[in-house]
Amino acid sequence: MIEHLQYIISQQWTIYLLPFLGFILGILLARRRIRKQRKQLRFSNDYFVGLNYLLNDEQDKALDIFVQLVETDWETIDTSLALGAIFRRNGEIDKAIKLHQNLLARPSLPQQYKGTVLLSLAKDYLQAGWLDRAEGLFNEVVGDAEFTQEAQRCLMSIYEQEHEWENAINIARRFQSRGDNKIAATTAQYYCELSQKVLKQNDLKEAEALATQALTIDKNCVRASVLLADLAITRGRYQKAIRFLRQVEMQNIQLFPLVVEKLILCYRNTSNLNKALSYLRMLDQKHPEISLVPDLTRLIEEIFGEEDALQYLSEAVLRKPSLSTLSSLLQLHGPDVDCQKNLVPAVVDAITDKHHDYQCKRCGYTANTHVWLCPSCHGWSSMAPKID
Ligand SMILES: [Zn+2]
Repeated sequence: MIEHLQYIISQQWTIYLLPFLGFILGILLARRRIRKQRKQLRFSNDYFVGLNYLLNDEQDKALDIFVQLVETDWETIDTSLALGAIFRRNGEIDKAIKLHQNLLARPSLPQQYKGTVLLSLAKDYLQAGWLDRAEGLFNEVVGDAEFTQEAQRCLMSIYEQEHEWENAINIARRFQSRGDNKIAATTAQYYCELSQKVLKQNDLKEAEALATQALTIDKNCVRASVLLADLAITRGRYQKAIRFLRQVEMQNIQLFPLVVEKLILCYRNTSNLNKALSYLRMLDQKHPEISLVPDLTRLIEEIFGEEDALQYLSEAVLRKPSLSTLSSLLQLHGPDVDCQKNLVPAVVDAITDKHHDYQCKRCGYTANTHVWLCPSCHGWSSMAPKID
């Protein structure tokens, strides 16, 4: 009976207690909501002031705001990083470096953002030309799967600039092992660079092995074929050289004019100039876009004499009118008139010289000599003889 009474009393207490507890809880929740709203309001106000500075191109003022904001809320770090990227893109490297160093120096920087900031700073160093520092930082983040590919691409660019071809090859190989086949042409160029390096040290055997490796990786590597042909010529193995040089037809016909003289030399040394002539004639018909007329003229003159060369050229100059064919014609034509023989070709040559002989297919950069790496867009094997 007593127990039952106690139970009733406790029930009544509960009934009195519940509204009171609800009241207290309500006050606590309201206070918390107000605090949160205040914080958000302050955050958004500062944030929008910062954005406003950015839109008005006042990046320095924006930087001050965002750097302060980041300390109270690290989730705003993306904005600071975007700002750093803008500085870098505008060439204000010192500001980008300062910003990223500032972020890194903060003890409160959460671990999850550290890699991103390091990568950004590494890119700043790379653009500033501080390759050693950049290399160190890229190596620090390269193990993090999130940054591996980007860091490796940047490291490859550093090794290219420093001519550290073995290191560049190591990275390129890792890309290939991940199934990136686009890297093959670049890897082959690295092997060619190495091949030329050891060739300078007179190690013909190693040079040949490296160039062969280049050709295995990229069967369309014209440079490797030319290197192997050069090595064969050095050893007096002209037939072998011819085989390598004729590969260029299938690899990249636009680069064929680079090897014509070497090819004729090999045929001459094997007493087979007629074969050279028929091959070049065939190519000239098959690929009217490449300029073989001056080479063919010289070859016909060497085999059959000046008259035949003149006849061929007179037809060719009409079929393929260009400054180079005109120049060849004027050099052969009219032996009686000194002016025609010397002056006119000289003038035409001068005009031809003004035109650059090689042009990059990727960026349009022009040059008088052929190089394998375009100095402008850093594209490998993109320079080809210009078509008149
Ligand atoms: Zn280029």
